[in-house]
Amino acid sequence: MHHMTLAEIARGLADKKFSSEELTRTLLARIAQLDPQINSFISLTEDLALAQAKAADARRASGESGALLGAPIAHKDLFCTLGIRTSCGSKMLDNFKAPYDATVVSKLAAAGTVTLGKTNMDEFAMGSANESSWYGAVKNPWNLEHVPGGSSGGSAAAVAARLLPAATATDTGGSIRQPAAFTNLTGLKPTYGRVSRWGMIAYASSLDQGGPLARTAEDCALLLQGMAGFDPNDSTSIDEPVPDYSASLNGSLQGLRIGVPKEYFSAGLDPRIADLIHASIKELEKLGAVIKQISLPNMQHAIPAYYVIAPAEASSNLSRFDGVRFGYRCENPRDLEDLYTRSRGEGFGSEVQRRIMVGAYALSAGYYDAYYLKAQKIRRLVKNDFMNAFEEVDVILGPTTPNPAWKLGAKNSDPVAAYLEDVYTITANLAGLPGLSMPAGFVDGLPVGVQLLAPYFQEGRLLNVAHQYQLNTDWHTRTPTGF
Ligand code: GLN
Repeated sequence: MHHMTLAEIARGLADKKFSSEELTRTLLARIAQLDPQINSFISLTEDLALAQAKAADARRASGESGALLGAPIAHKDLFCTLGIRTSCGSKMLDNFKAPYDATVVSKLAAAGTVTLGKTNMDEFAMGSANESSWYGAVKNPWNLEHVPGGSSGGSAAAVAARLLPAATATDTGGSIRQPAAFTNLTGLKPTYGRVSRWGMIAYASSLDQGGPLARTAEDCALLLQGMAGFDPNDSTSIDEPVPDYSASLNGSLQGLRIGVPKEYFSAGLDPRIADLIHASIKELEKLGAVIKQISLPNMQHAIPAYYVIAPAEASSNLSRFDGVRFGYRCENPRDLEDLYTRSRGEGFGSEVQRRIMVGAYALSAGYYDAYYLKAQKIRRLVKNDFMNAFEEVDVILGPTTPNPAWKLGAKNSDPVAAYLEDVYTITANLAGLPGLSMPAGFVDGLPVGVQLLAPYFQEGRLLNVAHQYQLNTDWHTRTPTGF
């Protein structure tokens, strides 16, 4: 049962081959048995899951249908869940029970999904290895000595290990696409504003976007359908109709113009990954796509710009965690200042503290123009590069990451080395564009992802390309040994 995709589960439930309750009990047992190896969950919500599964079965019995009705999923632990711990991977929020559901959570619950639990993540979504979680590192099911990527490493590892078919995740600089690449999944970061951020604990508000992690493009379409849409509670949510994503999957790729940026194939890219990307290009050419070389000349400035803007926004967003209103409070504070400094000093881990300091520095008087404003100008140049490129091509293709998943601990002493691994993903966040990563092969037994980017609101086009690719390749069907 655990090998089924969301689409297969929907068919099985509709044909009464099994009930949502049976499936939920099977997956909860599998999580209990296997999760200790990978640590992908922070909280399990068995009682809620069984109640939701029974309710979904009752809805189906009374004639209701729906692709997500009775489908088991999990939420990254930065989506607020009413009455359930929402920790954001931090000691700061270990005791925080959200007083409301995030819009994504309530929309998916209304569609009939079953929440098995809350998944592990880098603290406050800062990281690309899932090692900064207060709840311990997540292990990659493909090789338990390697990281699963981050920050949505728990969602990715759980889906890759077949503990559940799909999960929610968020992407500020790559946190859906990079763990998808590292664990052989399909992951989609939607256009900024496509999915409501209400109830998603903010890291960098102008970059954060929720989206699906699943094994196939077909399943990403199903989960995105349940997540996307205008939300008056999020002032940056965009009031655009949500297309039928599943209906977009079967378009022909004949004549599709794929742009391949020459800057993507520089010295930093593992040549074995470059070979796999070229193989994926050949596959898409066979399906009728036309390849064009393009240029994104400002790409080299994106990492420094991102690592100013994201920490600047984080330093502001995280000022609410002061020991007074939310979460952790230090013991016996002497006075108010002691309360603030010790609560924050003890509640936040070192990567979060580093970013708050970098961000506060970049925003401070005298440095604002030199760092923050400059970074915003680069952001515009990066966006303009894409706008120019999309005059000539329909999608942009390249590697998701320059290297496969590294060993646990390998980059802990050098944060900049980890930041450099985000080179292919963060440009989409700076520009607000949709991006997808899909499986494209293996290097030393570790999965490799190919990334596709499209113009604003063209999630359907990305899913179409990925689905057609997946109908003609079998990388995405490979399963890690032992799971
Ligand atoms: N690795 C990036 C960072 O640490 C991206 C994280 C994310 O997308 N949440 O900021």
